[in-house]
Amino acid sequence: MKRVALIGSTGSIGQNTLRVVEHLSDRFKIFALAANSAVDRLAEQTATFRPKVVGIMDAARLDEFRTRCAALHAAVPDVVVGVDGLRQIASAAEADVLVSAAVGAAGLHPTYSAVAAGKTVALANKEAMVLAGELLRNTASRTGARVIPIDSEHSAVDQCLRSGGRGEVRRLILTASGGPFRETPAERFQNITPEEALKHPTWQMGKRITIDSATLMNKGLEVIEARWLFDVPPEKIDIMVHPQSVVHSMVEFVDGSVIAQLGTADMRQPIQYALTYPERFSSPVASLDWTTVPRLDFALPDRQKFPCVNLAYRAIEMGGTAPAVLNAADEVVVAAFLDRQIAFSAIPQIIATTLDAHSVEPADSLETILKADTWARHEARRRLQ
Ligand code: MG
Repeated sequence: MKRVALIGSTGSIGQNTLRVVEHLSDRFKIFALAANSAVDRLAEQTATFRPKVVGIMDAARLDEFRTRCAALHAAVPDVVVGVDGLRQIASAAEADVLVSAAVGAAGLHPTYSAVAAGKTVALANKEAMVLAGELLRNTASRTGARVIPIDSEHSAVDQCLRSGGRGEVRRLILTASGGPFRETPAERFQNITPEEALKHPTWQMGKRITIDSATLMNKGLEVIEARWLFDVPPEKIDIMVHPQSVVHSMVEFVDGSVIAQLGTADMRQPIQYALTYPERFSSPVASLDWTTVPRLDFALPDRQKFPCVNLAYRAIEMGGTAPAVLNAADEVVVAAFLDRQIAFSAIPQIIATTLDAHSVEPADSLETILKADTWARHEARRRLQ
């Protein structure tokens, strides 16, 4: 029986993780649940999964959580609060695996704590690898921690990599849906509205990641994640636009053989893979219905129209704190776009000038990385005016 600590339990990855744990209840058991502020749902999950510990990021919601538990006749578990509470959960001796599914920089600290404690981490939090990929990689090789990605593309790469040795890889190919503006002429980008940009063709996701998918920044961030998750240099990581999103990613080996991972778009598949790795168990995920897959298209991304792709590769080349700056600047400008303060086409421009203004430092501690993050937010905000 493996004991799971789940940080970010009330979000979509968290809820899907609980469905996987429920399905595999003879193998997995919830040790801890943690959420930012959605205490209603957290109380319901507590009543159902009876964790030993619950973490609440927003300490002001603690009383509300206790009241909700009482109303549901759920025994109130030990409760920890704030980022220190999440760190405790992530590195607790009773946790065999951490599912790191908090959104944003809040997920960075517990992910680092778990890696430093040598745990197995099923990673859905993007920021951790984008901001601190090099640090996490080095720390994991020291502690023996294993990080298994949940993001569908990286899960696909992980699965494909098992077809050969690391020295036999020619390149990784991350697939991208291309977002809603794949066929929109560049002249229209100036006038794209938040409503148009929030319509993602394949996945239902949070607002920032949906806009990041529309600018292809999401794919750029995924290149950075892949660079550190798999220790592959950026020149060996390519992007292919594949609008049907049936092929979740591919690995090309030195002999020219390409291995692809395909399946229905259901996050329970990569979540279960990460939890049960290296084994596989039956799952309620539906079989891919080939009769509904009329054709599979592939094209190189248009880097003129989507400069965010180049910005991500540039941040990797700059190294150190540059990816943290890229990520923070992007978060600020995406929020400004959603607020109608800036045009869609201004998103890459402001990120580029913020990146240009940055003096890179080695990303060898969380403090340095978060300092660069704060600097970039300030710089990007200044450039919105
Ligand atoms: Mg993805």
